[in-house]
Amino acid sequence: MTYYKFQDSEKRVRIGKIICLARTYTEHAREMNVHVTEDPLLFLKPTSSIIFDHGTIIIPKQSQCLHHEVELGVILGKKAKSIPEENAMHSVLGYLVALDITARDIQAVAKKNGWPWAIAKGFDTFAPISDAVMKEKVPDPLNLDLMLRINGVVKQRANTNQMIYSIERIVSFISEIMTLEPGDLILTGTPEGVGEIKEGDVLEAQLDRLCSLTVDVKHE
Ligand code: MG
Repeated sequence: MTYYKFQDSEKRVRIGKIICLARTYTEHAREMNVHVTEDPLLFLKPTSSIIFDHGTIIIPKQSQCLHHEVELGVILGKKAKSIPEENAMHSVLGYLVALDITARDIQAVAKKNGWPWAIAKGFDTFAPISDAVMKEKVPDPLNLDLMLRINGVVKQRANTNQMIYSIERIVSFISEIMTLEPGDLILTGTPEGVGEIKEGDVLEAQLDRLCSLTVDVKHE
């Protein structure tokens, strides 16, 4: 079992299912040449893809092109089934910064053929996460600077206020489909600036002044 690491807390919360959103920032949808949708688009990542701060992203032999996607992660603290938007924040426990690592070459083939993204998104080490912060420390999760540097150079920089959907809407929408359970993690999608990562790169992700994540990259 894998547990979150909370800042300033011994809290033990097991990491549950990982629900990811796609196309939640207009500029990222534009760079990918896709349209945003009225309802959020969802896919899942396995818990086995989690790594922590100072971990290593492994480039699998099946892919020649991994991309970084820096994202705000929302941790669930309470069970939520068909929860209305006005109550959705009661289910949120905290936040973290995450990378939704994507085998872009495998995903491109999947998109072209109408196949699912489980392979492109699901390899081991494809979900690096930072230590978590409790929601009480985050008065407004939709006004946070989100940044990713590679080898010291800024590659992605945005504010969560550019996200198309509110946290309330995301939690409520997902809870109408699958029961959200304590420890589940929602990756809320990436802003523009995604690009390739290579062996030897050092990635630093940052969520405002709240939390950060440093990982490197190696071949299998
Ligand atoms: Mg993503």
